[in-house]
Amino acid sequence: MGHLCRIVAVVGLIGAAGAGPRLVEAQGQPPPDRPAVTVRGQTYTPRSILARNMGTEADQTTAFPPHRVIGNIYYVGTRTLSSFLITTPEGHILINSTYERNVPTTAKSVERLGFKFADVKIVLGTHAHRDHQEGDALVRQMTGARSMVMAEDVPAMRAMKVGDREQTVDRALRDGDTVTLGGTTLTARLTAGHTRGCTTWTATVQEGGRSYNVVINCSLRAPGMLTPEVIAEFERTFTLVRSLRCDVPLGDHPAQYNMHAKHMKLESGGANPFIDAANCHLETDIQEAMYRAAIEEQRGGRP
Ligand SMILES: [Zn+2]
Repeated sequence: MGHLCRIVAVVGLIGAAGAGPRLVEAQGQPPPDRPAVTVRGQTYTPRSILARNMGTEADQTTAFPPHRVIGNIYYVGTRTLSSFLITTPEGHILINSTYERNVPTTAKSVERLGFKFADVKIVLGTHAHRDHQEGDALVRQMTGARSMVMAEDVPAMRAMKVGDREQTVDRALRDGDTVTLGGTTLTARLTAGHTRGCTTWTATVQEGGRSYNVVINCSLRAPGMLTPEVIAEFERTFTLVRSLRCDVPLGDHPAQYNMHAKHMKLESGGANPFIDAANCHLETDIQEAMYRAAIEEQRGGRP
């Protein structure tokens, strides 16, 4: 194993342990600055993608102005960590609690929109990493919400304790399972690779008398070490995500769907900027290009 591969493997192991990029940064081992890929005129490296996704510590913990995305779907996350609230007459669904320390901030964003955090009945997530689902146990404790997690992510979820607080999974999901509350149905699609149970959520929502297909994507960012199992997962996942009907692409980091730019357009009025079918596969294109370049590099195919 070459020097570069060893570094990649260490970063991969830290990532797989769920410690997340914060620990990687704290230990002075950011992901490598290669390979570089260019998609639609923009160049990316593993390091630049991680920086784009996470921003600064303040970005991860500061509330972004909560807003309605489309239909009954609202954004209640921070500047770089997405949380989505799906409201229904029978209570609400929260997707991605993010870090446990962000839960009071998320609750405040929910209340700012005029909803009650106590009305959250179901807590879901995109994947069992701390920056997305660490707060699930606290949300469950504060609201009595039921926690539902893709079966393949349940072991990683259970390992994600915060102090003495255990993560409890009330329902293990399988690919294609649905979650219904108050007339809204979400479908869980297994899009493994970034984690074993990475979950992409799809829903059909109504706005202005029309139906729109919403896709809340799980991260497609490849880990540092691509094992045969992870490669098999990503090959299935890239085909699957490209097959989904999509009018409104969303993601577990705002940068994955250019939320900041779209939110600015939202404030200036006009058509809903989150309806963006033309860019449904932009993030997939970026991550698949990076994944294929990383495989080449791992096989020693780099010049
Ligand atoms: Zn992750």
